[in-house]
Amino acid sequence: MTTTPAPATGATFAEPGATPLALLLLGREADTASERGVDCPGDLPAASDPDLVARAAAAKAKLGDKVFILGHHYQRDEVIQFADVTGDSFKLARDAAARPEAEYIVFCGVHFMAESADILTTERQQVVLPDLAAGCSMADMATAEQVAECWDQLVDAGVADSVVPVAYMNSSADIKAFTGRHGGTICTSSNAKRALEWAFEQGEKVLFLPDQHLGRNTAVRDMGLSLDDCVVYNPHKPNGGLTAEELRAAKMILWRGHCSVHGRFSLDSVNEVRERVPGVTVLVHPECKHEVVEAADMVGSTEYIIKALDAAEPGSKWAIGTELNLVRRLANAHPDKEIVFLDRSVCFCSTMNRIDLPHLVWALESLADGRVPNVITVDPETEKFAKLALDQMLALP
Ligand code: SF4
Repeated sequence: MTTTPAPATGATFAEPGATPLALLLLGREADTASERGVDCPGDLPAASDPDLVARAAAAKAKLGDKVFILGHHYQRDEVIQFADVTGDSFKLARDAAARPEAEYIVFCGVHFMAESADILTTERQQVVLPDLAAGCSMADMATAEQVAECWDQLVDAGVADSVVPVAYMNSSADIKAFTGRHGGTICTSSNAKRALEWAFEQGEKVLFLPDQHLGRNTAVRDMGLSLDDCVVYNPHKPNGGLTAEELRAAKMILWRGHCSVHGRFSLDSVNEVRERVPGVTVLVHPECKHEVVEAADMVGSTEYIIKALDAAEPGSKWAIGTELNLVRRLANAHPDKEIVFLDRSVCFCSTMNRIDLPHLVWALESLADGRVPNVITVDPETEKFAKLALDQMLALP
């Protein structure tokens, strides 16, 4: 079931001002040499084609129950209108697993999400990502080689035995598999506190990756740790920029990764919106920087943000610090509340935005014609250990 209401007509939402970089250049998109298969074999329909909506609807109808379309909350409205379900990455992967009759899972999201769906679905199901260039800059900030080097350093410092890895859902299948191999768990932004509580029962230290902000915010806000208990491992510095002494003293070893979208919000954004909209409640995602989270009134995952706005009083005022497509959709769905974007400038996730209507039409029409494009497959060994870490998350108390 979708949890985000469809946009209401006639709603007003003040768009943030355009910036010189209206779409941020993120992740694989910033490095064209590393983009995986940005060409679509066959014809990618022109964005100006007036029949795109009808073509998507016709292809979807032809495929019937064989196809199941997942739409992440940060996707464009033009794509979300065709989603069978919407949600965050973990909810979508579970929704896909609950539909074994669907041969094709079309994942309108980014690469790591499609990998998770492949891990959780049956062998018979194929997961399709309409544009292979839809990556995630945060997930790309932790590679398997870098994390293996980090672990070697923990071994050299004599602390590896007391470290439990906790990997955010927003990570590659390789990183999830590393976590499973070393007895750790996956977490989402909704259950990060429970994951850390569990991890600190298993060991004395946590290696949290790849999002330093979610790790720090959860440790300090929810677990009562201090900022001094946290160190940041920088994979681009020798030994992560940390001494063995610092590793031995730390409780939280945070990987130096972040979301390029949520990382844009600043203390100035919060101060500015409080002046601009008197009486506003500032609600931000825990991927935001620590000082932003500290200055906000409320903090929570995308699902939390959606529920908070559903429950909000008519006439209440809200400034939301998360991806713009979702904020715009929520503002349009709640015309009786004043909902503004936390920052004055445009802040889409550009890699999420790679999935547009032409790519969705191309993927659906290819499937309807008997071709299966852009299949995301995780190898069995990686899948086995990644699933171990995902199952550990499901078993969290
Ligand atoms: S919003 Fe951030 S974490 Fe989510 S896919 Fe985009 S870059 Fe990755």
